[in-house]
Amino acid sequence: MKNIVVLGSTGSIGKNTLEVVRNLKDKFRVVGLSSNSRWELLAEQVEEFKPEYVALNDCESVEKLRRRFHKNQLNILTGSNCLKEIVSREEVDVVVSAVVGAVGLPAAIATIEQGKMLALANKESLVMAGHIVMPLARKDQILPVDSEHSAIFQSLHSGKPCEVKRVIITASGGPFYDYPMEKLSDVTPAQALKHPTWQMGQKITIDSATLMNKALEIIEAKWLFDLRIDQIDVVIHPQSIIHSMVEFCDGSVIAQMGMPDMKVPIQYALTYPERSPLMVQSLDLSSVGSLTFKKPDMEKFPALRLGYQAAKEGGTMGATLNAANEVAVQAFLVGKIQFTEIASYVEKVIHNHHFIKNPCLGDILAADTWARQEVKKCLI
Ligand code: NAD
Ligand code: MG
Repeated sequence: MKNIVVLGSTGSIGKNTLEVVRNLKDKFRVVGLSSNSRWELLAEQVEEFKPEYVALNDCESVEKLRRRFHKNQLNILTGSNCLKEIVSREEVDVVVSAVVGAVGLPAAIATIEQGKMLALANKESLVMAGHIVMPLARKDQILPVDSEHSAIFQSLHSGKPCEVKRVIITASGGPFYDYPMEKLSDVTPAQALKHPTWQMGQKITIDSATLMNKALEIIEAKWLFDLRIDQIDVVIHPQSIIHSMVEFCDGSVIAQMGMPDMKVPIQYALTYPERSPLMVQSLDLSSVGSLTFKKPDMEKFPALRLGYQAAKEGGTMGATLNAANEVAVQAFLVGKIQFTEIASYVEKVIHNHHFIKNPCLGDILAADTWARQEVKKCLI
């Protein structure tokens, strides 16, 4: 029996994780849940899973939850360190990091430093500080939840690290892949939030539409699998059936496939190295019909080019790119900037930033703060 904490339990990955855990009751006991605000959903989750701790960010939500549960029944952790505190409870064995954004980094570092398993959906922590996070982790301590990285992780088992030629990360292309480039500046948040194949949180759905999500995933893959940039390719695959591939030195290409359902990579991260039965739709290739592939268009989707640039340059580049993108996505969602301006703001900020090649955590956090302020200044 392993004790598990789910950070971001009210989000898309968080809810899917609890669905997985609900069916693995003999293997996992939920000891902690966390959310930014949605206290009513969090309260329902507390009723069902009976964790000892919750971490909650929003003050109003904290008050409401306090009225609902007696303090002998539930410990409510609050404040800026609450994610770090909840993962640091002694009884915790496994942490699923499913919060969105840079806020996940300190908790990821604490989890790894304390030798606990980290099932990582929060790709932003590796994008920001992969060079700090990865050397702290032992082999297979960080298990990828991102579907592409889970696919690569699973495919890598077909050979040795020295036999890997390259990885091929698939991308659905998002809702605008075939949309005329000159009309992209006019797309609305509602259009951008309609992802063709995956149901996800708002931020990652916008990132999928700009292809910034793939940019972040290139950086995530570089750190997780210790790859050179010239070993990371991206291919557009609109059906999202092949979740990614690995090409070995003998020309064999191993792919991991399945219907798009995040419960599969979540469960694999939790049960690895074993597999457990899971109620998901079986892949019926004859009804899928055809699997198609296209070369990514970096002119139409400049975010992808920025991702390669940040992955190559390393240092503070990832943290700056990520922070600028977080603020720009928010600005697009509230109608302050156009869709195409998301990548332009990010490009401007990473271009102007004071680059540090070997940053410490303090430098990373400072770059993050600076980049947020830079975008906000342009928005006034
Ligand atoms: P979401 O917006 O649906 O959920 C985010 C969760 O984080 C919520 O529970 C929210 O309460 C919590 N949160 C947000 N801000 C917080 C803060 N400041 N402090 C504490 N908690 C906070 O997002 P999601 O789609 O579930 O994505 C979560 C992470 O997983 C992201 O890093 C995303 O890139 C990654 N991911 C998601 C998917 C997917 O299918 N949704 C796939 C791969 C990777
Ligand atoms: Mg992904």
